[in-house]
Amino acid sequence: MLQYMREKLGPRSKGGKPGHPGQGQELPVPMADVIPFDQRDGSLWYDGKLVPWKDAKTHVLTHGLHYGSCVFEGQRIYGGTIYKLKEHTERLFKSAETLGMKIPFTPEQINQACIDAAAVQNIKDGYLRPVAFRGSEMMAVSAQNTTIHVAIACWPWPSYFSPAEKLKGIRLDISRWRRPAPDTEPVHAKAAGLYMICTISKHEAEAKGYADALMFDYRGYIAEATGANVFFVQDGEMHTPTPDCFLNGITRQSVIAIAKARGVRVIERHIEPEEMSGFSECFLTGSAAEVTPVSETLMNAYADEVRGVATVSA
Ligand code: PMP
Repeated sequence: MLQYMREKLGPRSKGGKPGHPGQGQELPVPMADVIPFDQRDGSLWYDGKLVPWKDAKTHVLTHGLHYGSCVFEGQRIYGGTIYKLKEHTERLFKSAETLGMKIPFTPEQINQACIDAAAVQNIKDGYLRPVAFRGSEMMAVSAQNTTIHVAIACWPWPSYFSPAEKLKGIRLDISRWRRPAPDTEPVHAKAAGLYMICTISKHEAEAKGYADALMFDYRGYIAEATGANVFFVQDGEMHTPTPDCFLNGITRQSVIAIAKARGVRVIERHIEPEEMSGFSECFLTGSAAEVTPVSETLMNAYADEVRGVATVSA
């Protein structure tokens, strides 16, 4: 396994020297959703009011599109209640602040806008996507005078991974990209730019038949999946990477709180990839991914007993 690691990522580097990614890999064409997102019916919230879904347009010369000046949230609504709404809105504002963007609404207005965006679509169980981004007034690195736009859309999204795969436990590739150091990128912001390596990693994983990819961090420790946090189980205890260079997910925090309330010991620590073979269970957590059992990673096949912990629901 160590041999594999060296071949895959190169030597560990505490100083942050990343493994050298390969080049020129052919990527598959992903299966499109049946109805593209810009062609759906209904309404969404855009800059302070509900507008027809198909009219929620943004010009191609938009700073957020060109320079990644864009932050977003992903949250679920269950039985008509948005799960951890205040926490998600708080994170949206924090992410925006980190990128120097002042959202021109109050958190209370955004909370209400989320509720309105779900209500107008009559969605009781689904997914919400608030997004804030810089507008078109300037088209260069400096963007001091751009307007900050905010949109919130809600749609049904029953399962992030295929339900059949989720039931069996998903399989994870190992990404060739690493989560960057906190002084390389604003790693705790849910910022669009940070997803660039996630999409590349996920596409490469899917091309190889995996559902997702596990990413290591700039030091070589296990970090997270491309859009979800990771947990391992051993001897009835849960181990999860310290979120010092990636998102401390709201679902992750819920799962830790639930586990602790049930008397399960949770250990947050740096986890070496070589340790994976010693764990008996693995699962992912995230607003989209919810709690998803992992049956196997590229480095290590897990036993069948993933379901015990996976039934802990956020
Ligand atoms: N890491 C990444 C990269 C994510 O995109 C997400 C989903 N937002 C998470 C972790 C999990 O965060 P949360 O539980 O707050 O959705």
